[in-house]
Amino acid sequence: MTAITTSVFELFKIGPGPSSSHTIGPMKAGFNFNESVKDIQLKKDPTSIEVRLYGSLSATGKGHGTDRAVIAGLLGNSPDAVDCDFLDSLADGTEHQFKSGKISLPLSIKNIIFAEVKNDFPYSNTLLIRLKNGEEILFEQEYYSIGGGFIKWKGQKPALTRAPIYKYGNMEELKKILTDTEKRLHEVILENEKAITETSEEDVLAKIDNLLDIMKKAVDKGLAATGVLPGTLGLHRKAKTLITSTPKGYEDPSKFLIRLNAYAFAASEENAAGHIVVTAPTSGSAGVIPAVVYALEEDAGVSRNMVRRGMLAAAAVGFIAKHNASIAGAEVGCQGEIGVASSMAAALITYAAGFKFWRTENAAETALEHHLGMTCDPVGGYVQIPCIERNAMGAVKAYNAFLIATVENRKFHKVTLDETIAAMAQTGKDMSSKYKETSEAGLAVSVPNC
Ligand code: SF4
Repeated sequence: MTAITTSVFELFKIGPGPSSSHTIGPMKAGFNFNESVKDIQLKKDPTSIEVRLYGSLSATGKGHGTDRAVIAGLLGNSPDAVDCDFLDSLADGTEHQFKSGKISLPLSIKNIIFAEVKNDFPYSNTLLIRLKNGEEILFEQEYYSIGGGFIKWKGQKPALTRAPIYKYGNMEELKKILTDTEKRLHEVILENEKAITETSEEDVLAKIDNLLDIMKKAVDKGLAATGVLPGTLGLHRKAKTLITSTPKGYEDPSKFLIRLNAYAFAASEENAAGHIVVTAPTSGSAGVIPAVVYALEEDAGVSRNMVRRGMLAAAAVGFIAKHNASIAGAEVGCQGEIGVASSMAAALITYAAGFKFWRTENAAETALEHHLGMTCDPVGGYVQIPCIERNAMGAVKAYNAFLIATVENRKFHKVTLDETIAAMAQTGKDMSSKYKETSEAGLAVSVPNC
């Protein structure tokens, strides 16, 4: 099996909500296009830019802000540095100037064409970005947003990835490494991260701290905010109501669960508002892991050092799910987003609590198993219904999977994480495209979009 070479910071990315495949990915594509045409030689001067969106980028791109995201990228903004107010300001169609090398062209969301939902591109979520002179296409780049903010493009040369120290492609191979080397899970993932990114341990840990701080900041902002979320659904924020109804602490299970729900609502509502979140592993699922991180540190008093280790365990689960199935709602439905986030969160809690690796795997497996088959059907194309509550359910299921894993007998756990990930891949393959972020079925049809 090919070895996983994904970095922790490719999986956990900082950027604006509400959907990593619809905002972060397209923004990266626009940014990449701007860079790639800097020194280009064209037979004529271009007179316009055209952006065509396909797949669920077309079906739900308006609700997700894909048009604003790709324009912001073309204007030279990267997801981790973009100003959210600027992003919002693009919605009114204000004209800006695309500038790259000698090319300077007017650009606004009017340059976006929402094209066919069904298509024959290698990945459903495709963007074509073109430089044109009249109707003549002078240059075209075909980008694919493959989930979690990752992009590829046609003709892309294989990236010069540095080799990981420990080569594994699934959990079975990772377990063998842990047994053979007698190393702990977080040590293996950390060693690989240092090798893949040529970064010191100190810098990797500082970057993890930054992710954790941004996750917690999103929770804090969401807990303090009130009012209605953007879009036509008129959905009211709920996080503040939940948090003000229950005091701190984790001794009382019901109160702890309400607080855990509140944290997940808070980060998800910030995501729905288009504010800065951390993909974990996607923006749509950006409330699950922040909720457990916040609860571990603020309610249960778990140390930052143990939470960092938990993040590395969570990353291992996310890598394996992405490598062997998908983390994109448009590819496998919501099982790949909230399901994988819940699985990663279960691993995080279990490992941060100091349990052994086999319990960590079992917790991750249990959490994912009970999300299998979950479809992606956002009402009105907004990452709000069912997404926000679904993040809360994912966090609670992660906690429950942790509780089960911490008391179960190892011999009696029958299903491996690899087997459940294989089931998710197969289920996703068989799932109708109507349930893959196109808003053509499920809740998106049965719930009136006011
Ligand atoms: S339903 Fe799930 S996969 Fe679909 S947009 Fe919402 S959170 Fe993402």
